[in-house]
Amino acid sequence: MDLTSPRTIRSIQEKFGFTFKKGLGQNFLTSQNVLEEIVDSAEIDSGVIEVGPGFGVLTSELAKNSDKVVTIEIDERLIDVLEYTLADYDNVKIVNADILKLDLHKLIQEEFGNEKVSIAANLPYYITTPIITKLLEEKLPLKNIVVMVQKEVALRMAAKPSSKDYGAITVLCQYYTEPSVVTNVPASLFVPPPKVDSAVLRLKIRENPAVHVTDEKMFFRVVKAAFSQRRKTLLNCLCSNFSFPKEEMSTLLEGIGITPSRRGETLSLQEFADISDAITQKTKQR
Ligand code: SAM
Repeated sequence: MDLTSPRTIRSIQEKFGFTFKKGLGQNFLTSQNVLEEIVDSAEIDSGVIEVGPGFGVLTSELAKNSDKVVTIEIDERLIDVLEYTLADYDNVKIVNADILKLDLHKLIQEEFGNEKVSIAANLPYYITTPIITKLLEEKLPLKNIVVMVQKEVALRMAAKPSSKDYGAITVLCQYYTEPSVVTNVPASLFVPPPKVDSAVLRLKIRENPAVHVTDEKMFFRVVKAAFSQRRKTLLNCLCSNFSFPKEEMSTLLEGIGITPSRRGETLSLQEFADISDAITQKTKQR
């Protein structure tokens, strides 16, 4: 069964009386080349988890290239469809659940033991950031995350300091992973076509975070504060989020070589780490 063919998609729709739900981000991929690029860049050792299989176009490609695929689909109507389209593969487990509510530590432990797994997905765009945030913040035993996302989102995750795309999500991604854009994908390669262009993003999980910090929670508090009001200076953003007098915060920043009038979006990960460590130390002294 060629699941990349719009004709096959139509015939499955007719067989199961299936209509696309826009609210669930149901835009199905129809490019064999892009599927192969996703699978190759996921560098699967043996196990892979997929988010949102739809009719199973990527799932079947993953099944051909791994020992085991666990695929998580929220839409109950798709479970019967997947049992039909994936009938030839005995290494696929279909889980009917909301990825955002699932205990992924438990699932990985039960399905893959101690092995590191890759994540591969054509993500539902309405929840791209919450999914990626969950995958990273939960510190799961992952190797790579390779996901189709909105092009703008891919640019944001791979952005450099001082560019318009650089934000809190960039820092989160670059702290835990090395992001790169694998390929751009036009809207015309999906059925139905989404309103935006897409890109395949690869997040290669780092062995250790990109920078060393004494208190990770503080690091992400500083990042959030620095980006909380883009037009304000770093000094003002930090002062309104931490209970420090302006003078004291200004001295702290100057002490680590950071000009207080800079904007948050100009800071490198190392500079965020320096600020975080300085605030942690100052808080302890108080
Ligand atoms: N993998 C298929 C493909 O490439 O053609 C479908 C991708 S489609 C962009 C996104 C899929 O994610 C849909 O099947 C949708 O039902 C599913 N989905 C949406 N929200 C979800 C959630 N919270 N948890 C799991 N799956 C979800």
